[in-house]
Amino acid sequence: MIMRPRVRFAPSPTGHLHIGTARTALFNYLFARHEGGKFILRMEDTDLPRSRRQFEESICEDLRWLGLNWDEGPDLGGLFGPYRQSEREKLYQEETKRLLREGKAYYCFCTQEELERRRKEAFLAGKAPRYDRRCLNLSQEEKKKLLKEGKKAAVRFRIPAGKIKFKDLIKGWVEFNSEIFGDFIVLRSDGRPSYHLAVVVDDAKMAITHVIRGEDHLTNTVCHILLFQALGYPLPLFAHLPMILGEDGSKLSKRHGATSINEYRKQGYLPEAIVNYLALLGWSPKKKEVVNLNNLIEDFSLERVSKSPSIFNLSKLKWLNREHLKLKENKEILKLAFPYLIAEGIIKDKFNKKKMLQAIEAVKLNLELLSDVPSYVKIFFKEASLSKEVLGFLKNPNSIKVLEELKETLPAKEISFTEAKDFLRKFKEKFKNKGLTTRDVFLPIRIALTGESSGVELFYLISILGHDESLKRVERVLSQVREIK
Ligand code: GLU
Repeated sequence: MIMRPRVRFAPSPTGHLHIGTARTALFNYLFARHEGGKFILRMEDTDLPRSRRQFEESICEDLRWLGLNWDEGPDLGGLFGPYRQSEREKLYQEETKRLLREGKAYYCFCTQEELERRRKEAFLAGKAPRYDRRCLNLSQEEKKKLLKEGKKAAVRFRIPAGKIKFKDLIKGWVEFNSEIFGDFIVLRSDGRPSYHLAVVVDDAKMAITHVIRGEDHLTNTVCHILLFQALGYPLPLFAHLPMILGEDGSKLSKRHGATSINEYRKQGYLPEAIVNYLALLGWSPKKKEVVNLNNLIEDFSLERVSKSPSIFNLSKLKWLNREHLKLKENKEILKLAFPYLIAEGIIKDKFNKKKMLQAIEAVKLNLELLSDVPSYVKIFFKEASLSKEVLGFLKNPNSIKVLEELKETLPAKEISFTEAKDFLRKFKEKFKNKGLTTRDVFLPIRIALTGESSGVELFYLISILGHDESLKRVERVLSQVREIK
């Protein structure tokens, strides 16, 4: 029987979905889909004070937005549920009892204050601030007495001495000496599990075959392997993804700009561009760089994941967003940019859809973000007010002649983009023998129609604004020009 991989994405719902975490989700998803396996979503909400349902919902929403749908999870259920760690506490407590019975874990009565004080002492004495195993050496009587007195006890895992060696699917062989780790807590004194215990119990009970996560978890993996072994569970395979660094080489953080998917979404990035960019953070495609989720599923393999850190480069993400926008139909861009157009007051209850689609066509290649749409298409819907200086610039015989001529010759019927191009070419010819350059002819027209000295191609303006609107704008500008002294 072929074992289909089962991988999991296990975020802690203590904040919004982070770029790095989203990359982990994506790589798990791609691996599962490429291999025909299952992608499982598990909420690691054991840190009760910091975990919020609102963050769980936000993470799920962002994953869906990116197109990373899961097969089992808190909302969907599945054979291995529940998928929220806060709902699995009994299981962790039972497994802890087993460790205690087998002498692989022990009660620890040390208080936070005591531990803190001893950590400081160890540090000052130049020793590693590991747990000093004080409670490991308590006699049975002492333990019984303390428990009877109702003293609160956590449970610590007793780390076996020796070397731990495992083959990481990305990094190759990794070896650690277990001595560097202190006996860590598996169950807190309030009965809640530690991250280490919950992860191991869940990965085993959920039949996870591959644990794919960031390199920052490498030392945790060592603790996990020891726990897997102590609990008699089969080991999954491990793959540690390279770190994501800012352009200055330090760990990606707020200092480098937006770090949550949510922020990029609000800024007007497309999910396709984010997914494409995240895939390039540590993985190299075989062929082209601009790819969609299906291309990625087809091509993905852990062998092509890099060992060295990836640098987060915002310009590259913007470039990809531009490329993915180019691939979109105008209708789709309109749908996606709708909230921005409403917010900027370009679209009210009723709007001219045909004109809006034409405007999008005209500005499409300039767009970097969806949120750019309003500022680019604005000129087609709103007349600009021209400053005194600009009007002064237009107040010269040549510009006025050009605008007067335009007024007289603007095609009365609707014209296509090609017809508008043709019209402008012929229009320009008329001024050639009068010694006017292309710029002398086109700049006043552009300024009269938009108030700007640069922007979309003129033929788009002539065609989309149409006869009446163009005439209105030109006449208004001409009368304003005449008024100034
Ligand atoms: N909950 C952990 C985190 O958010 C992930 C743990 C894991 O992937 O094993 O960092």
